[in-house]
Amino acid sequence: MSQTSSQAKSLLIDGRWTPAAQTFASVNPATGAANFEVGAADAAQVDAAVDSAWRAVRQKAWRDMLPHQRAALLRRMADGIDANADLLARLQMIENGKVWNECKAQVASAAATFRYYAGVCETVTSEVTPPRGNYLSLTQYEPYGVIVAITPWNSPLTMEAQKIAPALAAGNAVILKPSEVTSSPALELGRIALEAGLPPGILNVVTGLGSGAGKLLVEHPGVRMVSFTGGTASGRAIARVAADKLMPVALELGGKSPHIVCADADLDAAVEGVIGGIFEGSGQSCVAGSRLYVQRSVQQVFLEKLLARTRAIRVDQPDAQGAGMGPIASFAHREKIESMVASALKDGGEILVGGKRPDEDHLAQGAFYLPTVIGGLKSDAYVVREEIFGPVLCALPFDDEDDLIAQANDSVYGLASGIWTADYRRAWRVARQLEAGSVWVNTYKQLSISTPFGGFKQSGIGREKGISGLRLYQQSKGIYFAM
Ligand code: NAD
Repeated sequence: MSQTSSQAKSLLIDGRWTPAAQTFASVNPATGAANFEVGAADAAQVDAAVDSAWRAVRQKAWRDMLPHQRAALLRRMADGIDANADLLARLQMIENGKVWNECKAQVASAAATFRYYAGVCETVTSEVTPPRGNYLSLTQYEPYGVIVAITPWNSPLTMEAQKIAPALAAGNAVILKPSEVTSSPALELGRIALEAGLPPGILNVVTGLGSGAGKLLVEHPGVRMVSFTGGTASGRAIARVAADKLMPVALELGGKSPHIVCADADLDAAVEGVIGGIFEGSGQSCVAGSRLYVQRSVQQVFLEKLLARTRAIRVDQPDAQGAGMGPIASFAHREKIESMVASALKDGGEILVGGKRPDEDHLAQGAFYLPTVIGGLKSDAYVVREEIFGPVLCALPFDDEDDLIAQANDSVYGLASGIWTADYRRAWRVARQLEAGSVWVNTYKQLSISTPFGGFKQSGIGREKGISGLRLYQQSKGIYFAM
């Protein structure tokens, strides 16, 4: 298999590679060069994927598969991901521009997710509730049937594994619609699933645009549940369709996460946490700590350290040795970031570092942008309120704990948050008041597959990972016996 993905123009439907109705170009954001053509499914191909998924999920062999057999399939998929790690990481890198080490780490996390849900599948069972008089009741968890998983481009394999592994463990068939920016790792995942022995139709991979194949899949009457990760505007559009169908949806959406540094914190450790929190993946992370709140008494000294460390980040080709940050994932997305930085200047912001494209000639053809810190903004500035999804940090001061909580929670989003302090009682008090699905104390972006993950407020509905990640793809049934 070459790094240009032999399946790029095809869709995986019913265990066969089917040429797509149309194609569009995948572009390498680090060089501006075309990678390959990617397929876009039409309505008939979406129908075929849904029909095949229903046929597959109703097969006795899949429906009645024993938990340890299902788990063995998931483990074989994990082994297949490991065996193809370099290819998968390279495909991700040439499509979204993330640096090599991050791409490799994301492949490893995808394999680990399949192994985790193999274990969950074997150990989590139906529940017998205590007898009530002469009645015994049993709670059985059943699959929905056909699930659609729609994923973004920033961490494609990680997100795809987080949906597919538990949905299969729960006994569903899955139709995966990856982001149009990063289709090829998903197609390889489809190949790996077939090689692992997954029955045809249990995992179909249908590529295309959100407004095309994505919308057709969500609207399809044969689709019983949609698990979506992406922007809040797209999530809202999907939720509207789901309301008409009265269909359950899981939504993992955007964020504008507060990252808090108190005066008593280990400032050097906090600088590293803040840098990783916003600049890893060129800031294209749903949990990016993009609003920095530093206690006023240490603001100057902290910012001096932070700016020096930011200037030292090497922006380079994603496979260059020592590259700290690669390009933005697309040229269009860099333009959006640039227009948001321009709006910050209009709102009285001051660029403390970055705020432009790099000067180096060898980066001129790529969608690069320097790590940027903006000061001088008020809490109502557009860039303080809205997700930029780029390497741009807004730095604001806070005075005391009440001020801190008020500012941190003053957002329609509520995905993640972080606090650096030496006082664990304060950390506990603040963590309990923050309106966010994840709170990190003296660390940032530490994620565990066994800890439920999701958003408060407009950052989402539902929780992936952990046992809740399995339950997301099941509906419970109470069965009552008269004894
Ligand atoms: P996006 O919303 O533009 O696209 C995400 C996916 O949805 C793509 O596959 C796209 O084709 C599809 N899509 C778009 N509109 C659709 C519609 N109406 N119907 C069906 N499918 C549709 O998001 P993106 O630009 O790919 O990703 C960036 C966003 O994702 C950011 O907002 C980021 O915060 C969010 N994100 C959230 C999490 C999380 O776990 N909460 C994780 C990663 C990314």
